[in-house]
Amino acid sequence: MVKPTVAIVGRPNVGKSTIFNRVVGERISIVEDTSGVTRDRIYADAEWLGKEFALIDTGGITLEDEPLNVEIRQQAQIAIEEADVIIMMTSVREGVTYEDQQVAPILFKSGKPVILAVNKADNPELRSDVYEFYSLGLGDPYPISGSHGLGLGDVLDEVIKHFPEDSESDYDESTIKFSVIGRPNVGKSSLVNAIIGEERVIVSNIAGTTREAVDTHFQTQEGRDFVVIDTAGMRKKGKVYESTEKYSVLRALRAVDRSDVVLCVINAEEGIREQDKRVFGYAHEAGKGIILVVNKWDTIEKETNTLKEFELDVRDNFQYLSYAPIVFVSALTKKRLHLLPERIEEVFMNRNLRIQSSILNDVVMDAVATNPTPTDKGRRLKIYYTTQVSVSPPTFVIFVNDPDLLHFSYARFLENRFRDTFNFSGTPIRIIPRKRK
Ligand code: GDP
Ligand code: GDP
Repeated sequence: MVKPTVAIVGRPNVGKSTIFNRVVGERISIVEDTSGVTRDRIYADAEWLGKEFALIDTGGITLEDEPLNVEIRQQAQIAIEEADVIIMMTSVREGVTYEDQQVAPILFKSGKPVILAVNKADNPELRSDVYEFYSLGLGDPYPISGSHGLGLGDVLDEVIKHFPEDSESDYDESTIKFSVIGRPNVGKSSLVNAIIGEERVIVSNIAGTTREAVDTHFQTQEGRDFVVIDTAGMRKKGKVYESTEKYSVLRALRAVDRSDVVLCVINAEEGIREQDKRVFGYAHEAGKGIILVVNKWDTIEKETNTLKEFELDVRDNFQYLSYAPIVFVSALTKKRLHLLPERIEEVFMNRNLRIQSSILNDVVMDAVATNPTPTDKGRRLKIYYTTQVSVSPPTFVIFVNDPDLLHFSYARFLENRFRDTFNFSGTPIRIIPRKRK
């Protein structure tokens, strides 16, 4: 399933990020916090009336040194490229501005559905002022108030009406989709070029949808189908905004969403940087298969413990990715590159692993026997039954007497027991406690 995408466009201060946060809601987890994913977010999952979509705040993609009207036009361009539905935001307090007049026709000409939201309509008087926004030629203006949470439902009702009918997955289920993410210059394009080097057959580069057109579909000699998601986004650096950090992060997050497995690339030469953590954290949160790839290993002077030490450093910096295998490669010398497709396939399989309930419950019983369940204020956690409810990523529901009694540390313990027993290497797993009825 490819989720539809909605982008918010508008000049600064109309309330885009206020609305973004309201729609997305605050679903902060510990990992998200440590990896900084939630800090000035511009891309997140959202849902309205059971319909899931991805939401982009293009206002967060700032282009330094560009005059405001250039910047806004480029944000509109990004929205047109990335989104299925666009929300153009304005503010009733300032009325129709020059920038609004510049952006509206660009959006209109794109042919994409555009919903015109007029924010800061905090009271009935202001709401009646929205009529002047008809002059933008984008149809009915929707009065909303981000700070009061008014009118947003009407906008979202309209947004979901315009979602594409058929947002089926673009590839066969057995085709392994992976993406390669990491900071600029870590060697992403070099890696991809090397992986899909001479010995592999490119199946096709031309496909039906714009999304497929930026991917590279290839087959290994063993006949396994792979797709590198958004190969184009990784390579092209033509338009101004394509070289901005926020935009490349956005592209990476979108590629992650469409992938089964994500290669998180670290540059051995430069070591680990803060910036690495954000996108990797997102891949983890999204439940994707993950392989940590340390590239440019050829540049390192090796002594007895160099690899071990680097590995410890990676583990220390990415504690929440303790399940991810680490592969040391060189796109330049091609050293150990041949391992990658195999590894990707293995992680893909692990992420799709299904465990029989009977075996699962044996493992849980053994676990409880060696490490009794925790108590809280005299009450002990009771585990009745465990079952795997889904794959990709493997997700387990544990029926208990009281979900609050399953503390993080005990869930962690159970996770580790699952990992010791089954091969979940490279895949996050989720454990959800549920009260037995
Ligand atoms: P952005 O630059 O478009 O992302 O705008 P922000 O979301 O940062 O909001 C800019 C300012 O407008 C902030 O001070 C918000 O508190 C304020 N604001 C946002 N929505 C409303 C609203 O509905 N009414 C009023 N009065 N102020 C709002
Ligand atoms: P991207 O921006 O992440 O796609 O990085 P590129 O693939 O464009 O590589 C950036 C630079 O690093 C280029 O000059 C590459 O030739 C170089 N490079 C990539 N992989 C390796 C490697 O394994 N070893 C060395 N020494 N250089 C590499």
